[in-house]
Amino acid sequence: MSVSVRDYIRTIVDFPKDGILFRDVTTLFADARGFRMAVDQLLHPYAGQRIDKVVGLEARGFILGGAVAHQLGTGFVPVRKKGKLPGTTIAQDYTLEYGEAVVEVHDDALAPGQRVLLVDDLLATGGTAEAGIRLIERLGAEVVGCAFVVDLPDLGGRKRLEALGMDVHALCD
Ligand code: 5GP
Repeated sequence: MSVSVRDYIRTIVDFPKDGILFRDVTTLFADARGFRMAVDQLLHPYAGQRIDKVVGLEARGFILGGAVAHQLGTGFVPVRKKGKLPGTTIAQDYTLEYGEAVVEVHDDALAPGQRVLLVDDLLATGGTAEAGIRLIERLGAEVVGCAFVVDLPDLGGRKRLEALGMDVHALCD
């Protein structure tokens, strides 16, 4: 049987706390064949479309998004946790399981009308991705698609993003 992206992802039990099954993609990134497969499959639906920028969500979205941007021949824009970006930023709050978080983007990183592909490693509740989408749209750019290596369908992220009109692309559930 042929190898798939899923085969390179391992599960760590009780990380970061008891009762959580953490899907660890570092084993996928570390394998030359696995990493190339993941990057190629992430960008595949968008390869024939006009994409102006790839936006990656901190932190594993930087690793994937950088490679996708290189392959598509676009620039890369990071969405980072609060306080990490050096220039002038806009911020977006979102809700976590316990409490709130804030992500930011440089306010000159995207221009109105630009077509953006959003990339992250994993879609769970969709809260992080939705915050990224809001930042992109507040800068006047358009999200063409949201690409993830893993979707955890029980957590509802895909439905949440599709309700916003997003095209959601995931390599495995
Ligand atoms: P959400 O905002 O969709 O609930 O959570 C997704 C975010 O949390 C992503 O940025 C993702 O990197 C991180 N995340 C949550 N659970 C996991 C997991 O099991 N494995 C990995 N690799 N990332 C996770």
